[in-house]
Amino acid sequence: MRSPACTQASIDVCPLLQLPDFNAHFMVDCDASVAGFGAVLHQGDSTIAFFSSAVVPHHAKLPSYERELIGLVKVVRNWRPYLWGRAFTIRTDHWSLKFILDQCLTTIPQHTWVSKLFGNDFTMEYRPGKQNMVADALSRKDQEVSLATRALSVPSFDIFKALCQEHASNAAALEIREALASDQAPAWWTEVDGLLLFRGCAFVPDDSALWPRILVAVHDAGHEGSEKTLHRLRASFYHAHAHRRVREFVHSCSVCQRIKIEHLHPAGLLQPLPVPSAIWSDIAMDFVEGFLKVGGKRSIARAFFDNIMHLHGLPCSITSDRELVFTSNFWTELLNLTGIKLKMSLAFHPHTDGQSEVTNS
Ligand SMILES: [Zn+2]
Repeated sequence: MRSPACTQASIDVCPLLQLPDFNAHFMVDCDASVAGFGAVLHQGDSTIAFFSSAVVPHHAKLPSYERELIGLVKVVRNWRPYLWGRAFTIRTDHWSLKFILDQCLTTIPQHTWVSKLFGNDFTMEYRPGKQNMVADALSRKDQEVSLATRALSVPSFDIFKALCQEHASNAAALEIREALASDQAPAWWTEVDGLLLFRGCAFVPDDSALWPRILVAVHDAGHEGSEKTLHRLRASFYHAHAHRRVREFVHSCSVCQRIKIEHLHPAGLLQPLPVPSAIWSDIAMDFVEGFLKVGGKRSIARAFFDNIMHLHGLPCSITSDRELVFTSNFWTELLNLTGIKLKMSLAFHPHTDGQSEVTNS
């Protein structure tokens, strides 16, 4: 049995929850993981409350942005008695959530969840994950169980079993196996039960038919970006060009495309150009991407000369979103085609163009 002194000492030692001071500023640190959401309510160094909640199954496949947003709404609702009617700060390690009140919301669920925060007087701050350790740990509270369950689940074994079969016939894998058999392979290659491992990760050949299954398995868990998907892939699998594979897969993922977050401020209303005073007097040029490449500025200037200038003369204005270098090159080429020779003289060298200088002076 514990002595009273020992009990008193354990009570005095941190972490101890403090009573809130309603005149001080409240801070909420939050973080979401695939399995759950965690948050800490504090005022400076005084911790007031912890919050931890598991992600419900139908939210588990949402992108991390929406999972974090839903967790955020839950936590603000949970601590409403502390936060309502006073200014508070929310700190998250999800960069895009920092702009939650400014950015374009692209899906109806996003509108629904953000509207639940209306009426609260809060500011969002970004706090890197390393500094957000408590909330991060709370968000992963239930993850150990799910990881253990996943380790026992059949589909992951299916992939490794299929990889074993592939390693028995694939040319690249056979080459490594031969090197292993003759003790010429580098030390980081090993073979366990017919599976080739590179530093403990299963080797996936470049031409493996299992790539789609592997990428779906690592990406569909949360539809996170390329880097996080790559991180998850590299925890179990090895391929020298995995980065390229993952990037291509994530870019073509239809779910990610549909709920892509717009990081820019709204552009506002489109401003029309003034109505031209004559046909072909004021023109706008833009380039459409995705077609076969043309022969650069020369062919563009030639097409412009043959199809527009030849028929309608020189326009009064051209509106283009191209950068200065392109515009300059385009004009040089166009002037070449018209036969105008632009002789550039240098500033502070009046002897190059004496007649103009004399007229100016
Ligand atoms: Zn996706």
